[in-house]
Amino acid sequence: MTLSIAIVGAGPAGYYTAEAAQKQWGNDVRIDIIDRLPTPYGLIRAGVAPDHQSIKAVTKRYEGTNLAPGTRLVGNVMLGRDVSVQELLGLYDAVVLSVGAPHDKPIGIPGDDLPGVIGSAAFVGWYNGHPDHAGLNVDLSHHGAAIIGNGNVAIDCARVLAKTVDELSTTDIADHALKTLAESSVRDVHIIGRRGPHQASFTTKEAGELGHLVRAHPVVRPGDFPPEAEDAALDPGQRKMVTHLRGFAGLPRGDKPVTINFEFFRRPVAVEGHGKAERLIVETTRLENGQAVGTGELHAIPCGLVIACIGYRTAEIPGVNWSDKLGRFPTDDAGRIAPALYASGWARRGPSGTIGTNRPDGFSVVAAMVEDGIAASGKAGPAGLDALLATRAVKASDFAGWQKIEAAEVAAARTGAPREKLVDVTKMLQIAL
Ligand code: NAP
Repeated sequence: MTLSIAIVGAGPAGYYTAEAAQKQWGNDVRIDIIDRLPTPYGLIRAGVAPDHQSIKAVTKRYEGTNLAPGTRLVGNVMLGRDVSVQELLGLYDAVVLSVGAPHDKPIGIPGDDLPGVIGSAAFVGWYNGHPDHAGLNVDLSHHGAAIIGNGNVAIDCARVLAKTVDELSTTDIADHALKTLAESSVRDVHIIGRRGPHQASFTTKEAGELGHLVRAHPVVRPGDFPPEAEDAALDPGQRKMVTHLRGFAGLPRGDKPVTINFEFFRRPVAVEGHGKAERLIVETTRLENGQAVGTGELHAIPCGLVIACIGYRTAEIPGVNWSDKLGRFPTDDAGRIAPALYASGWARRGPSGTIGTNRPDGFSVVAAMVEDGIAASGKAGPAGLDALLATRAVKASDFAGWQKIEAAEVAAARTGAPREKLVDVTKMLQIAL
């Protein structure tokens, strides 16, 4: 008898969980990494910004994990549509949900349903060529764009809007996005933070990058900072990030045509416009016990595009306990959801941390499996899944199929770019199957 594990989600959390299971059980485990797309790597492919290719290099490690004996990619198979969690639990000794957090947290302000208001999952998915978002209508015919949130996703979105075509064309940004950005009229990008520079969750490198763009320069109001002596109380990473922001506050305006305006102490209260977004109304805030409190003072930021970069939610899966409050599956500290059912990555801890944070996460889930006595019990495993999918005429793609897709993408790349992503699942399957 061989132990069998199904990992749902071929993103970083799924691969690190598979790596941990391989280290734990070696040749005595069969692992199926199941994904609804024929392409693996989740947020590395569809979330990490296209101009951050060095971060994407980690896929070489995941490739090694997938090519290890006993481990398969089962692409084009969607949990809840093609197979249920209960069926997977009947087929495998353990099931891990590493499905991430693909849905935008709603802003919940009047006017947030106007055309021109989008979430970062959609915008990032659009420029990264995710099949779900490749058809998004992104209107860049206005001068202003407002980006809500003070995290790295907000910085990614601002940087992509601010970069020149030359800066982006050597990346794997999707062709449709590059063409739209080439025609962009956006000149004033606003990054809206409801708290101040000390509370921003940008990391140092990401904040610093905004000081080195070809046609854009950052603008920060000096009055938004607390006295410099208070920086000493910050942890070293945060202090360096704040030092970058202080540097931006001292920059001369220069003659770059695009500005990236940090609007600290501003809370979004409404989006207004006739039939589409034309302005974001923000309220000035002050800090009380570390929280943003409105002062009643309102400002209008002219913008035709509002991108909410305020966090994500995991998708509900039929038959799995889900918390609307948490926006994910409730788990214990080790990622247990129910007997033999676990979660890792953002599906377990929410949308936080770097890619590398998922590694200890995957290892701790496998440690919980060991503690729970997960062992080979004679379940049908991968062969059972294949038989079930055959009865439903579901055609799964495999890692060799992904390698064919990858070869086609590399062959179609613009000059200097690593690949041109396929954005249509039907086309991907024509190549993969
Ligand atoms: P994040 O770092 O949690 O930032 C979310 C931001 O949204 C916070 O500034 C938060 O403000 C704000 N926010 C939440 N609800 C809001 C509301 N209703 N109104 C106004 N503002 C609101 O999340 P993220 O930027 O989505 O990034 C997710 C994770 O991925 C992070 O760990 C991030 O570092 C990581 N990431 C890393 C990279 C990289 O390393 N290059 C790139 C992208 C993402 P408060 O703080 O006031 O709640």
